[in-house]
Amino acid sequence: GGRLSVVATPIGNLADLSDRSRSVLSAADLVAAEDTRHSARLLQYIGITKPMVALHDHNERDRVSRILAALDEGLHVALISDAGTPLISDPGYVVVREARKAGYPVTPIPGPCALVAALSVAGLPTDRFLFAGFLPARRAGRRAALAELRTQEATLVFYESPHRIIDLMQDLAEEFGGERECVLGRELTKAFETFYSGTATAVLEQLQADSNGTRGEFVVVVRGSAPSEGETVDLDADRLLQLLLAELP
Ligand code: SAM
Repeated sequence: GGRLSVVATPIGNLADLSDRSRSVLSAADLVAAEDTRHSARLLQYIGITKPMVALHDHNERDRVSRILAALDEGLHVALISDAGTPLISDPGYVVVREARKAGYPVTPIPGPCALVAALSVAGLPTDRFLFAGFLPARRAGRRAALAELRTQEATLVFYESPHRIIDLMQDLAEEFGGERECVLGRELTKAFETFYSGTATAVLEQLQADSNGTRGEFVVVVRGSAPSEGETVDLDADRLLQLLLAELP
């Protein structure tokens, strides 16, 4: 019967394609991909050609009926994105939701994911983290989103494009304070993989000093707010005095 496999693919290093991803893609009848030309190259790398259907954020609702029809025909559909894990700042949510609703098995084929890769080496707490994806492209929206996250205690993870990375770091330094600890991963798993770390201000300076600092792909990992930060301590002076007086000999 019909089934959907959600297949992770490399985020820059083809050697990260798992054996299981490879065999599921080989076995699939139809590949739903974000950019069919881009994904055709991946399929070529593993030596297969498959019928493909393009799935973008703006046509997903439309394409979902086509994919559901394929499942109804008993086909095995593999969903991939341009890089990494589908649905993680990538299309696929509507397809997965509808396939599950229709009762088809939906199987993860896990693998690379930029946010997890960055988090795994940032050296910041990972027991609780908040993936905030891409913040709004316009400054006002981005500032408002950051203001909302200012007192968040969990480690924060953002995706950002190279032409906005400096703007993001500037806004972050202003909203969170220049002392907030950050770790940036650039071009993870690729030839020019680079990390920038330190305070927000220091990271901003490193980026500006590096001629490649605004090239490639970035994950930004930020230490969460210290527990008391942003809280107003409501001290009742009289009550405090009573407590202290009671302790006096
Ligand atoms: N689905 C992908 C995943 O699993 O990570 C993310 C897709 S999202 C459209 C693309 C963004 O992910 C980039 O703008 C960048 O922030 C991040 N990204 C993807 N590959 C990366 C890499 N090799 N190094 C650093 N960041 C990367």
